Amino acid sequence: MSTQNIEELARANVRALTPYQSARRLGGNGDVWLNANEYPLAVPFDLSQQTLNRYPECQPKQVIERYAAYADLTPEQVLVSRGADEGIELLMRAFCEPGKDAVLFCPPTYGMYSVSAETIGIEYRTVEARADWQLNLPAIAEQLDGVKLVYVCSPNNPTGNLINPDDLRELLEMTSGKALVVADEAYIEFCPDATLAGWLQEYPHLVVLRTLSKAFALAGLRCGFTLANKPVIDLLLKVIAPYPLSTPVADIAAQALSAQGIALMRQHTDELIANRTWLIQALSSCDCVEQVFDSHTNYVLARFTASSQVFKTLWDQGIILRDQNKQPGLAGCLRISIGTREECERAIAALKPLPGAAVSREQA
Ligand SMILES: *Cc1c(COP(=O)(O)O)cnc(C)c1O
Repeated sequence: MSTQNIEELARANVRALTPYQSARRLGGNGDVWLNANEYPLAVPFDLSQQTLNRYPECQPKQVIERYAAYADLTPEQVLVSRGADEGIELLMRAFCEPGKDAVLFCPPTYGMYSVSAETIGIEYRTVEARADWQLNLPAIAEQLDGVKLVYVCSPNNPTGNLINPDDLRELLEMTSGKALVVADEAYIEFCPDATLAGWLQEYPHLVVLRTLSKAFALAGLRCGFTLANKPVIDLLLKVIAPYPLSTPVADIAAQALSAQGIALMRQHTDELIANRTWLIQALSSCDCVEQVFDSHTNYVLARFTASSQVFKTLWDQGIILRDQNKQPGLAGCLRISIGTREECERAIAALKPLPGAAVSREQA
């Protein structure tokens, strides 16, 4: 059988698929990785479980109990999965009929909502955010027919802004009885007061996604959480794999969610926020930076006068940023993850000599 035939055997939607452009897939020989919103330093852990001959628990009890306590919810409102990305997909698999139902989200936003929808073969609709990156509620209301899931990322990746709580309430009212609202809170530890977890008792159709990949410094662990009321969690438990987390993952996640682990996460978060303040200030004084956007996360979005050259110049110096040019409304924008202070300084030292608008136009 030729390679050609193998390709033809695949599902049409999979053939048409562009895989998620993860930072790791894009490559680069960097030594300053500021493109994946990772915590810049590794936090050490020891494995305490030596029972790898046995299958793990489907939903490891200690991890669930500790996350529930951390999120101020009950254990039956918590599902743990292989990253928040698996949560995004489980919701589609549990709630959307391929070829019939749709999901909706508001670009510019996180790339996995469309990738998961395409992989599973369900329609996705997009309603672009307004110029201030808030929800366009009237446009969403018009598009809701057949929509089962509305993904809202807050704070939003890659823009860094929070979605207005009043708008989120309005969205929850207009979707009541029709669709679930999925609040992606991957970065909520950088603005914990903004969480919607406390709204779960009021809204049976609200879902909150969380992860250990960002503030908890465990992107390599692949561990995330879906918070929702029991009827939603019970449906997700029907479609999740029997052993979604390996024993070492559950072991380390439980340690990360101990009182000590949470205290360490909060200390790291404070340090990154201080670095963010420094970086925003320093970016504002670079000639090549046109605009720096405020952030409630561990990254900063900025608009540059010649973003492709800026990206390439830093890339060649081993400083890897994330290009956001292709997202609607983000022409000229690069996203910079907050690293250590030294890494932020390296980025600024590389940006400082680059010319502003007038000079780069002369050169072009
Ligand atoms: C990083 C990220 C995720 C994915 O988290 P994982 O737990 O690593 O799968 C989900 N949503 C957003 C907005 C993210 O930035």
